[in-house]
Amino acid sequence: MPDYDYDLYVIGAGSGGVRCARMSASYGARVAVAEERYLGGTCVNVGCVPKKLFSYGSHYAASFEDAEAYGWNVDKISLDWKRLIENKNQEIQRLNGIYRNILHKHNVTIHETRATLKDAHTVIVGDKEVTADKILIATGGWPMVPDIPGREHIITSNEAFFLNELPKKVAIVGGGYIAVEFAGILHGYGAEVTQLYRGDLFLRGFDQDLRRHLAEEMQKQGINLCFNTNIVSVKKRDGGLVADLNDGSKLETDLVMYATGRVPNTKNIGLEQLGVEMKTDGSIVVDDYFKTSVDNIYALGDIIDRFQLTPVAIAEAMVLSANLYNGQNLVTDYVDIPTAVFSHPNIGTVGLSEDQARERYDNIQIYRSKFKPMLHTLTGRDESTLMKLVVDENTDRVIGCHMVGPEAGEIIQGLAVALKAGATKAHFDRTVGVHPTAAEEFVTMREPIE
Ligand code: NDP
Repeated sequence: MPDYDYDLYVIGAGSGGVRCARMSASYGARVAVAEERYLGGTCVNVGCVPKKLFSYGSHYAASFEDAEAYGWNVDKISLDWKRLIENKNQEIQRLNGIYRNILHKHNVTIHETRATLKDAHTVIVGDKEVTADKILIATGGWPMVPDIPGREHIITSNEAFFLNELPKKVAIVGGGYIAVEFAGILHGYGAEVTQLYRGDLFLRGFDQDLRRHLAEEMQKQGINLCFNTNIVSVKKRDGGLVADLNDGSKLETDLVMYATGRVPNTKNIGLEQLGVEMKTDGSIVVDDYFKTSVDNIYALGDIIDRFQLTPVAIAEAMVLSANLYNGQNLVTDYVDIPTAVFSHPNIGTVGLSEDQARERYDNIQIYRSKFKPMLHTLTGRDESTLMKLVVDENTDRVIGCHMVGPEAGEIIQGLAVALKAGATKAHFDRTVGVHPTAAEEFVTMREPIE
């Protein structure tokens, strides 16, 4: 084998890149990783982590209101938005440091600069060139904003994490994870939020009952949901913004945020000249083993067109590193990936939606329960939780678990294990509930509604 500087060169120190770098190094490979922006990638810096912190913070608004019914006098509440941003930034810096230490501890060389490919074994990093036997592209994605007039006035989630002040009025465009999450977060902090989605109902692909239920709950809270609506152009006016909508009306707002999906970061890395096959959306085509069309170049995470989820990138990285440097022959298991949307209230879901189940199975049973959480028996808050099970009647296997309600992600994680283990409805029925919790409802639904 030629004498390369490294066994593996990873471009992109996000969740997938860092995990693959450190695991490969722990198996004995000589590894370097390049990162031009921030260690930890999207999830740590402008994604999951700051979003969850914002979501926690935003929930206090309702908690302050609810506290009164529990005997507390909560007077003089005020928000110091700058303190929130500072504290969040500090926490992220701490995590950046942890990522740096993890890589150092595993003897992974870090190049904090942009890396591009000169040829299949040579990477240009800053003003030098290094060689590697194998190269992993893990450069993630970047928010996409459609090219409309006034695009320069529009922000994305990247900027939303660093706002100097909380805007009074916000328009959020999109109907995916990020749009519904930010709608809940900014509304909780006190902004007047309008969410615009081009289709009939947001969260396409999720179970219909979840989508409808979340929309009802968000509307009850006072979030203005405008479906079948889109922005045509944005103009600056009187210190604020005016958005022209597709129905001819205008929306005055202080901030327009687009959360209309993310595109793979594959431009200007040198992939085209090496003949790395990509789809029209820029994502890299890989086989089951994350190998691209060039033999020694691999790709995983958001850059490949599979699941844009941190734990999936990490799972892919574990498989790739074990295959390359620990003599294994694994493939990633994409079945029954649980996911949460940190909307207010949260969505947690694993397995098939009712519609997907009807397409794949002849006989399915649906169990559904809608109830007022115990917390609100005293507060009187008009909020309800939805839980739903989808069961294959022929085998009795539970093939979908869905929830809208507080801590839905926490609850669904445990149920995901049950689904992975092939649990049947009879297993759920035999499981003793934890009382009093919302989660026990998942093991006490007895009568199918269909
Ligand atoms: P999504 O792909 O989830 O949603 C994009 C939304 O924007 C869709 O509703 C889509 O509509 C709409 N859209 C797309 N193009 C346009 C357009 N030109 N004009 C108007 N609307 C448009 O992207 P997000 O940006 O919300 O998130 C990116 C990914 O990040 C997610 O898919 C998810 O995998 C990941 N993520 C995960 C989180 C979690 O695990 N909690 C949190 C945040 C992000 P339509 O449905 O009609 O196509």
